[in-house]
Amino acid sequence: MRRFLIGGNWKMQVLTVDDAEKKAQTIASTIENIKRVEVFIAPPFNSLFNVKQIIAKTKLRIAGQNMHYIEQGAFTGQISVLSLLDAGCNYVILGHSEPRRIFGESNQTINLKVLKALQHGLKVVLCIGETAKEREEGLTREINSSQLSECLFGVSDEELKKIIIAYEPVWAINNPYLNPGIEIKPATPTQAASAHKMIRDWIRKEFGNPIGEWIRIIYGGSMSQSNARELLEITDIDGGLIGGASLTAESFTPIIQIAEELSKDIEELR
Ligand code: PEP
Repeated sequence: MRRFLIGGNWKMQVLTVDDAEKKAQTIASTIENIKRVEVFIAPPFNSLFNVKQIIAKTKLRIAGQNMHYIEQGAFTGQISVLSLLDAGCNYVILGHSEPRRIFGESNQTINLKVLKALQHGLKVVLCIGETAKEREEGLTREINSSQLSECLFGVSDEELKKIIIAYEPVWAINNPYLNPGIEIKPATPTQAASAHKMIRDWIRKEFGNPIGEWIRIIYGGSMSQSNARELLEITDIDGGLIGGASLTAESFTPIIQIAEELSKDIEELR
């Protein structure tokens, strides 16, 4: 069975290094007994290095929230893959809907970033997902497939094993800037199951069955303690990317515990 991956995306919600350190320390201590689930947090860039020091001897891993596709140069406001590695990141989140839909990041740019991260051995959490309007217009399959094919352009079978796909329907992400005027709610288990199956089938078709079976596809969009079980029980869902609920151990750790419980009887985990 694929090992569950639970990631916490702190976005721009944690403002000081001190607060980030405290939150990371509390989360790390509440997951000491977690054996079967991989867990990361993605703090803002300013606190990555300090957080890494705090959690160095724990099971918690860290991720960058984005990066540039060029290693070094005159790129105001950007961060290099080399800086993420220097800070101790194990993962980078790429293609999140906020940089895509608020700041206009394109599939082509994301593709360059994916290739750069892979070149340096950084694992990629590649986010894809349709808006409410695209879903209403019946474009869910088309949008997700084109995001996959354009963002994964030039990625080899071996490299794909370093990628985790995060299916994050934009309409389910708890962010009013992304979803002005619509009621934000998590995907139902039926909606999530069907999208995850579609994504896995796409990977099977383009990269072959073994990689289709191997790759982890995690769900993101208003995941919380109250809906985590019904989502994580779905065969094609291999974890969660969690925004709001990852900001405190109180709301984050129970989700990790649910994933641990669901994998407790599985003998072999990759
Ligand atoms: C996200 O932004 O990746 C996310 C899933 O946020 P939330 O859990 O707050 O909806």
